[in-house]
Amino acid sequence: MKRATSTAPASHRNEMRYNPATGRWVIYALSRRQRPREMVGAGEGSRAEPAYDEHCPFCPGHEQDLPPVLLEYGRGDSPWQIRVVENKYPALTPEGDLKRVCQGIYMKMEGYGHHEVLIESPVHNRQIPAMTGGEVEMIVDAYHRRYLELIRLEKNLLVVIFRNCGRRAGASLAHPHSQIISTGVVPGHVREQEYRAQQYFDQWGSCMYCDMIAEELSAGIRIIHANRSFVSFVPYAAAQPFEIWIMPRVHKAHFGDISAEEKADLASSLHAMLRRVQGRLNDPDYNYVIHSSAKYRTDEPQAHWFLQIGPRLTTRAGFEIGSGMSINTSLPEEDADFLRSDPPLEKGGRNASQA
Ligand SMILES: [Zn+2]
Ligand SMILES: [Zn+2]
Repeated sequence: MKRATSTAPASHRNEMRYNPATGRWVIYALSRRQRPREMVGAGEGSRAEPAYDEHCPFCPGHEQDLPPVLLEYGRGDSPWQIRVVENKYPALTPEGDLKRVCQGIYMKMEGYGHHEVLIESPVHNRQIPAMTGGEVEMIVDAYHRRYLELIRLEKNLLVVIFRNCGRRAGASLAHPHSQIISTGVVPGHVREQEYRAQQYFDQWGSCMYCDMIAEELSAGIRIIHANRSFVSFVPYAAAQPFEIWIMPRVHKAHFGDISAEEKADLASSLHAMLRRVQGRLNDPDYNYVIHSSAKYRTDEPQAHWFLQIGPRLTTRAGFEIGSGMSINTSLPEEDADFLRSDPPLEKGGRNASQA
């Protein structure tokens, strides 16, 4: 960083913070403050799921109901450990055409893209915190293989890998799974973030995200966890309580360039963070997403991929919808401090199959 910055502890007055990556101001309304331990999930996962559900399409024995398997990993005596299949109810389909069609002053196109489901375990209630490190590594490896396969297809411009866990996070099935969607367009939201990073690079001559890692490591107060390849922290201007960014230390614009060592370290960071979210926040619903550069920008010096976790603890209300600004009642430094301490993992719920 080239400017004088303050790492003084935040005061307890209301304040606004600017997130240079999203270009959004966030309001920290501490007069509406809740303490970290009050900002917890409702234990959504505590409705204990069984290890096997005969009605679940992802449980073993329902293979005939699944779309064709695109990728499968075997393990030990289990016929499969991870499976990637096409989504039975896809948001986008590969048959679509990218041709724009005018309708008066309007424009439309067909819904081109790929929509895949990654079934993370044959066991219905084995969520990531309950898995072994090796199982999580296998998931990350499957993300990488599908990412490379999809991004090389000519019409695909962006590949988004994400996980919705729990109903509040948009999941309709409890069985552990992630999703992968490729699109034939670059959404404005992604272009806007590219533009912000480019502006920063042109101004300062360095990658904003690399500078952010340096700033966080030097301040230390928002870091939750770090290993040889990744730094996990609550961003300075987190839009919601307990938001976590897991960022690779080495500058790479797209997820496709992740190394074997980084895959193992990402799995370890992700595992550690989800265990903390579950153990410290009473098993809330959450989303995570891998942000990676759009095609043709994969060598850019300003783009830097990372993984973002967002626990679902609050709801966007009228002011947020009307202004685009978030109101966060929890301070990032305190959230990081709360998550940093080792969680007493609870038995039951989505963690039921933990050994
Ligand atoms: Zn199942
Ligand atoms: Zn960078």
